Amino acid sequence: MSELKLNFADEPSMLQWCQVAAKQVQPGLVIHLQGDLGMGKTTLSRGLIQGLGHKGNVKSPTYTLVEPYELDSLTVYHFDLYRLSDPEELEYMGVRDYFSEQSLCLIEWPEKGVGILPTADLVIELTNWQQGRECTIHAYSDQGERQLQAWQHP
Ligand code: ADP
Ligand code: MG
Repeated sequence: MSELKLNFADEPSMLQWCQVAAKQVQPGLVIHLQGDLGMGKTTLSRGLIQGLGHKGNVKSPTYTLVEPYELDSLTVYHFDLYRLSDPEELEYMGVRDYFSEQSLCLIEWPEKGVGILPTADLVIELTNWQQGRECTIHAYSDQGERQLQAWQHP
């Protein structure tokens, strides 16, 4: 299991990394985002989604649970499952179709969807670091490993 640790002094430096990282993203990835409320999971998602070419806002899908972004190279599904009371709800929403070779799934609070959500290719964990954030990325599949390698050697 490979690991990549990144330290961001502030939000702009994290968003800057996202711009570069998004250019190397391969479709088909499932990324779980972990970290307490306010750690920057939505900020990181927004950075990647905008880095992939989305021009508008990226709002937190707190109430809709998932927000789709149809972009040129792939479709991003941004989940926030904080308010999900039962993983079965995801079935009714038809989310199984969202996990495909043509999509990128970014999932905040993935533990709420255990049993229905596929396992992660990458887990990104955000913690406090100085005034900014530390971002620890672990790979859990071959595709996740390849993505991590690409990010390690931009
Ligand atoms: P989460 O989705 O994990 O609850 P948010 O992305 O909504 O967290 O971010 C919460 C707050 O943290 C925002 O006010 C944002 O400006 C700030 N923030 C995000 N990333 C960073 C960073 N790398 N360094 C410092 N502050 C950050
Ligand atoms: Mg959030």
